[in-house]
Amino acid sequence: MIDAVLPDFLHTLPAGTRTPCHGRPELFVHPIRSTPTKAAVEEARALCAQCPIQAACADHAVRRGETDGIWGGLTPAERAAVARPRPACGTDAGWRSHVQRDESCLTCREAHDDRLREQRLERLAREHDEHGGSLVGYRLELLLGLPTCVRCRAVRQAYYAPRPSSGKWYRRAA
Ligand code: SF4
Ligand SMILES: [Zn+2]
Ligand SMILES: [Zn+2]
Repeated sequence: MIDAVLPDFLHTLPAGTRTPCHGRPELFVHPIRSTPTKAAVEEARALCAQCPIQAACADHAVRRGETDGIWGGLTPAERAAVARPRPACGTDAGWRSHVQRDESCLTCREAHDDRLREQRLERLAREHDEHGGSLVGYRLELLLGLPTCVRCRAVRQAYYAPRPSSGKWYRRAA
């Protein structure tokens, strides 16, 4: 944050209190075209974490679309991510946005599992249609918790069958 800028939320500070960023502009505002060091960002974050108005500061910067500096412990990229509309839960995009943020969401998790199951079922149907049975089909049946079918089991047994001449087990080329 810039010391010279006095947004409204600063007036909520108790009289005589200074924000932790006061007097440390070099940590919060970075010269144009210069990337702050990781250490500077972490130090700024640590100061913001002790600030009594951190939430209001971050909220102000997000609403104002501040593109520079650290505000409320957030970098410009983090503020942009907060400002971006979140995709709806239960969609693929919603699931991906949780993964990117390392969040857990039961709705998205279940929807993702349902989609994965659908895709596996479709692939299994293709394996049966195109090959009758296959190793991939066998693995999909296991993954889906289905009983393995006769055709896929037969392909697997043939694949792992012992070499007749040596009596040793070997893997044939798929
Ligand atoms: S949250 Fe950080 S940038 Fe905002 S006023 Fe407090 S110390 Fe300064
Ligand atoms: Zn969700
Ligand atoms: Zn099968």
